[in-house]
Amino acid sequence: MMERKDTKHKDTPFRKKAICGLLFLLLMLTGLPTCSAREEPDYARLREEMVREQITARGVSDPAVIRAMRKVPRHLFVPPDRRAFSYGDHPLPIGEGQTISQPYIVAFMTEALGLRPGNKVLEIGTGSGYQAAILREMGTRVYSIEIIPALGKRARKTLSRLGYTDVHIKIGDGYRGWPGEAPFDAIIVTCAPEQIPGPLVEQLKEGGRMIIPVGKRGTVQKLVRGVKKGGRIRTEDLLLVRFVPMVGEGD
Ligand code: SAH
Repeated sequence: MMERKDTKHKDTPFRKKAICGLLFLLLMLTGLPTCSAREEPDYARLREEMVREQITARGVSDPAVIRAMRKVPRHLFVPPDRRAFSYGDHPLPIGEGQTISQPYIVAFMTEALGLRPGNKVLEIGTGSGYQAAILREMGTRVYSIEIIPALGKRARKTLSRLGYTDVHIKIGDGYRGWPGEAPFDAIIVTCAPEQIPGPLVEQLKEGGRMIIPVGKRGTVQKLVRGVKKGGRIRTEDLLLVRFVPMVGEGD
């Protein structure tokens, strides 16, 4: 009896341990996918922080711009190895020697266009397609031109995968604008020519707004806002910025 009792006492903790061990193993195994999923940054939270700390805190107040910046998943417009940094307060490389602008600059330039839903907007320099997605989220009709074919094609793919299927992207030199779709209510240029291209002024509606960085290659540029009045563009300088140069005819 004693012996059996002893064996029983020895067996029970062992069995318990074995069961616990098995349960632990099972938890580990089933828990693994959850663990690795948790290692992925919480992009929605990073985006909220970006809007709070970089956009509204610095004075951007147009509710439609804020809504768009809160909604568009910026991390999906940058190469996978840069995603973790995509909500940081800086521009990021997107390949082909080009960059996606700093979030604040995107918001600031968008606000400066004074957009209303239904406006027809021309963007020069599609890049990643992020700015185009922000414009589309504002309810505008978007036409965007990119000179580097690989970037234009990738932006098209990214945008349509995210449901922005009606953003029109043309591959070519944006210096000449998009005459077949002119006139535009607003024009945003995200690469820097040395002077405002004449064809873009022509393709702006009377009362239309343009935002464009202007300056010599390799220097800081002036971010200029223009309004077309009486067939001419009246400009004001807003900020000092650093954009990639406009290449092609505007070079
Ligand atoms: N708006 C973009 C960032 C633009 S970076 C975004 O949201 O990601 C500037 C882009 O302008 C680059 O992709 C560059 O290839 C393009 N570019 C330079 N010169 C151009 C030209 N003449 N016509 C059209 N695109 C041009």
